[in-house]
Amino acid sequence: MQISNPDKFYDLVVVGAGMVGASFCCALENLLGENPISVLVIEAIPPGNDLAKQSSFDARSTALSFGSRKILEEFAVWQELGAAVCAIDEIQVSDRGRLGAVSLSAQEQKVDALGYVVENKRLGEVLNARLLGSDTINLLSPAAVSSIKATEGGMQLRLQHGDSDAIVDTSLVVLADGGKSPVCEQLGISQSIERYDQHALIANIVFEKPHNNIAYERFTDTGPLAILPLQAIDGMNRGSLVWTLSVEQAAEFREMNEEQLLSLLQERFGFKLGKITNIGERFVYPLSLSLAKEQVRPGLALLGNVAHTLHPVAGQGLNLALRDARVLVDVLDKAMQQGVTLGDMSMLLEYVARQETDQALTTQFTHNITKLFSSNNDAKVWLRKFGLLAIELSPRIRHGLAERAMGLS
Ligand SMILES: Cc1cc2nc3c(=O)[nH]c(=O)nc-3n(C[C@H](O)[C@H](O)[C@H](O)COP(=O)(O)OP(=O)(O)OC[C@H]3O[C@@H](n4cnc5c(N)ncnc54)[C@H](O)[C@@H]3O)c2cc1C
Repeated sequence: MQISNPDKFYDLVVVGAGMVGASFCCALENLLGENPISVLVIEAIPPGNDLAKQSSFDARSTALSFGSRKILEEFAVWQELGAAVCAIDEIQVSDRGRLGAVSLSAQEQKVDALGYVVENKRLGEVLNARLLGSDTINLLSPAAVSSIKATEGGMQLRLQHGDSDAIVDTSLVVLADGGKSPVCEQLGISQSIERYDQHALIANIVFEKPHNNIAYERFTDTGPLAILPLQAIDGMNRGSLVWTLSVEQAAEFREMNEEQLLSLLQERFGFKLGKITNIGERFVYPLSLSLAKEQVRPGLALLGNVAHTLHPVAGQGLNLALRDARVLVDVLDKAMQQGVTLGDMSMLLEYVARQETDQALTTQFTHNITKLFSSNNDAKVWLRKFGLLAIELSPRIRHGLAERAMGLS
């Protein structure tokens, strides 16, 4: 429910109701049925029709793994997404102009789908509706944290809400305010950042042939290019383009006239989807690997992009954050069962311990793929060529790769 005046104390305060913060709140809602704890969520951009202003719910689409589907089902979010979700039955990975291609299929892996694509805007509508309709989660928006400090019992936040200021104490702050977090800076939590000197150009595209639920990942001389299948609208075959480019090319391609860009895209991608006829509004995102040097402190846990921002090449960022969110809720449940305060450091360290291997492997996997497939260096080209061939020839390796793509490894 939306509130206009916060109380002085909440057991838990979530900062940021983007994809991660809002999904975490949905998971909490399930838990709150049996536990009388108070929760406040603070979001800078008010939930409304102009979702594009909120960084999570802009024009992008997100590939959700099979594992994320299971988690979103547990959070009672999946059921609401309905027909907006497009299943991925096959993933085709290839290297433009070179031998070697891999195909992973749901049929071979004996699953309903390898993953799903959802438009961020639709996910935003569902998550915002859940927050607004909740009896237990209090949403204060538009509001932002103007300062934060540690206290004996947890954290104290000063909130800016319209023209008014409020001070709120809490046992635990779950910080889910995205990659650029002034709150983290105030707390002196620094990030280790590796810039890839690449930007992602994002747009929805329309093409002649049906995509048949195939997701394409093609490695080109300019960088990886992905086309994710989207639900058709008014008979139009649609896909979401994620094109990794150098900083200069991304700026050039964003401004290029449509005809010229479509011809470049067609040349890079080929004709598997027939003629690419339209490209929608284009958006550019700078890409980096950014990892918070601390994920927990007494009374504080970082979740989502503020904890780890990954390159989108392998579509792992939100999928990893959802796994984190599920484990954090599980640990908080345990704290409540044991009568321990939510911000208790030993509980939060248990969360870190349970997720650190998953986080490290997912981060390393994404980083290695980015480096390997963004290079035209001869050795890496050979490695790619034989790597793709080996995967195509070995059902075991394909199974391992598919498990990772499905978020089940
Ligand atoms: C091009 C691209 C493609 C991607 N594709 C995939 C994919 O296919 N699969 C996948 O798993 N991941 C993908 N990702 C990663 C995914 O988008 C991120 O993991 C996800 O957006 C992180 O969400 P978040 O909620 O942590 O942060 P954000 O989306 O940045 O949300 C933060 C929220 O906090 C609010 N906020 C910020 N500061 C404050 C404050 N001080 N007070 C109150 N509120 C505040 C903001 O308004 C916002 O709503 C992709 C990323 C990119 C860039």
